[in-house]
Amino acid sequence: MQVVLSEAKIQERVLEMGREITRDYAGREPHLVGVLKGACPFMTDLVRHVDLPMTLDYIAVSSYGALTKSSGEVRLVKDLDQGLDGRDLLVVEDIVDTGLTLNYLLRVLRARGPKSVKVVALLSKPARRLVDVHVDYLGFDIKDDFVVGYGLDHNQHFRNLRDIRLYGSE
Ligand code: 5GP
Repeated sequence: MQVVLSEAKIQERVLEMGREITRDYAGREPHLVGVLKGACPFMTDLVRHVDLPMTLDYIAVSSYGALTKSSGEVRLVKDLDQGLDGRDLLVVEDIVDTGLTLNYLLRVLRARGPKSVKVVALLSKPARRLVDVHVDYLGFDIKDDFVVGYGLDHNQHFRNLRDIRLYGSE
């Protein structure tokens, strides 16, 4: 499968994003919430470049399943372990496609009283957006292609690839 983003390019950008967050949150203690399962490799790499006191948690929502197209339906599958009251929340997503997942999540999480909410996403497909969601820290904009690797799956496979590839290409 054709490589869209190499391991080196991803790692370089994740380092930069970690440094940006470190700078922007100096003197505070951010709470990072990773969206399972796709954001896992990104989250674990990112937090090691956030040089601040911080905490993390995970949430899971239903994803595409066996399909490669968004159903538009989002369901909370695993909730957070900790509350968000008064926290400086950073939601960490693998990819923002239509924006429906993030839009739903932000509504749920904002209702829990965090002091601030920002969004970190490794990838975005702006051409596919159905709802307007703001990404504060973005790794890369990509074209409207289905990609796998670095946490992103097709039928639960390929999450372990260290780079990001075009699914189905030769
Ligand atoms: P949205 O709700 O923004 O349409 O979709 C977000 C979710 O769709 C992502 O968290 C991811 O699980 C899935 N998704 C969107 N585009 C892709 C893609 O190109 N590859 C993979 N593997 N998953 C995608």
